Parts: sequence; C-alpha cells; structure tokens
Amino acid sequence: MEPNERHALNDQALRRRLAIDCGSCCGLCCTALYFAKSEGFPADKSAGKPCKNLLPDHRCAIHSALKARGLKGCLAYDCFGAGQRVAARTFGGQSWADLREDRETMFAAFLSVYGLHQMLWYLLEAASLRLPDALRAQIDGMIGEIDRQADAPAAALAALDPDVWRGKVNPLLHAASETLPVNPGKPLPRDLFGRDLRRFDLSGRDLSMALLIAADLRGCTLRGSNLLGADLRDACLHGADLSQAVFLTQAQLNAAAGDGKTKLPASLRRPATWT
Ligand code: SF4
Ligand code: SF4
Repeated sequence: MEPNERHALNDQALRRRLAIDCGSCCGLCCTALYFAKSEGFPADKSAGKPCKNLLPDHRCAIHSALKARGLKGCLAYDCFGAGQRVAARTFGGQSWADLREDRETMFAAFLSVYGLHQMLWYLLEAASLRLPDALRAQIDGMIGEIDRQADAPAAALAALDPDVWRGKVNPLLHAASETLPVNPGKPLPRDLFGRDLRRFDLSGRDLSMALLIAADLRGCTLRGSNLLGADLRDACLHGADLSQAVFLTQAQLNAAAGDGKTKLPASLRRPATWT
C-alpha cells in the first residue's frame, strides 16, 4: 500500500470519529451551551442549564417536531463528535447530571474539544488536497498533535485555550487553500445574501466566509470551491454538486436546504430534514 493510501485510510477513520453520536453522549450541547431563541432554539437559555426539552435519558422530547417548530438552531448544530468524546472517553461514560463540582469542568472540556475537533475537520479537508510534500507532512503532524491533545485529562482540556491551537492551524489551512485551482472568472463579492447564483460557474471559487444566506445555488457545481466558514443558512442547494467542495461541514449543510439530487462529499450526511 502506498503511503498516501495509508494516510487516507487513517483519515477516514478519524473523520468517522468526528461524526456526531448522540447516543453515546449526554445531551452536552443541550446543556453546556448558551442559546438564544432568536437563533432558532426553543428559548433563551444560559450556559450550563439543561434545555427544558431535554429528557432524563438525554434524548430530546420534541426531536420529531424540531422542523415543524422552526427550531433551526437545534437542527443545524453539529459538535464534530466532541460530545461523545468528552462523555464517553474523557469522563468514562458519566453524565453531567451525575457530576457536582466537576460539572463545569465537563462543560469547559466539551467546548475545548469542540474547538479541537473543528480544527481536525478542516485539517482533514486540507489533507485531502494535492499538497506539496512539506506542507502535507506539517498537516499530518498537526492532525496527530491535535488528536492527542483531545485525549488530555478533563482538567487540562477545561483549561485549554483553543485559540492557541488556531494560531498554529490557520496558517496551514491558508497554505492549503492557496493550492486550490482558481476560477479564471471575475471574483464574486463576499456578500451574496439572497443572490441568484445559478448562472455562475462556482467551481474553483473562493467562497470562504461568504454570506450565502438564502442564496439560490440550485444546480450549481462547486468543484474545488472553498467554503470555509461560508454562511449557508437557508441557501437553496437543490440539485447542486458539492461532492468536491472543500472545507464544507455538516453544520453548514444542516442549515441549508437541499434535496435527494444534491451531491455531497462522501464524508458528510444528507440532513434528514431535506426534501
Ligand atoms: S453534544 Fe454532540 S453528540 Fe452530544 S448530543 Fe449534542 S450533537 Fe449529539
Ligand atoms: S429542543 Fe431538543 S435539541 Fe433543541 S436544545 Fe432542547 S433538547 Fe436539545
């Protein structure tokens, strides 16, 4: 087996660990995080307080009605697998409800691992590109370092500052982005709110941090397009081809509208709420 094939297999296994497994968690997002009703959550809620709809077994009492109630925040949220890692590994299967003094430690560890897993996701995306050997080695090394860091004891995770890691990761992501093929057309503005983009060739576009809220991308092809941090809330992706889009996340897809014809990268799931 070629070294790159071996890496690809390891990366696939790691990506699977970044997919949420709520059955192995204890409703950490529904408890640890601050929510605002205006952002599509059921009510304003302070961090550390369980949502009123969280059942004692950590399931959501209104799960099947989230879409009908317009709770877009709940539907879009994705923890990059941080919840199950903290609950099942860092805390050995305990729930926040079992803890007293350590409850805040668990919540803080969850936020840290969320940041680390998000960086892992982007690094794995970068690792899937055609990269110069030296950059690939740096990215592979960083993936290993961050994955080991996410296995630190609870107190160390709670005290961790993800921004320190972001300071190391961001230059690598930037360097990887520079290797993407560039669309020769006129650059698009960052503010594409509500725009009809169907007539544009979106392949090879730098759409990182673009405001694509409610934009119409029906039938568009985004081959090699950089979607890092793009805001896809309510963007219409019906029939669009995102199978080779780069830096796309599950949360971005969850927040958008697609259908059975939308083509997705193999590492992402079709949201259950899509038509
Ligand atoms: S924190 Fe993650 S794994 Fe846990 S319930 Fe929320 S989405 Fe699911
Ligand atoms: S409504 Fe359900 S999914 Fe949303 S925060 Fe509450 S328990 Fe979690």
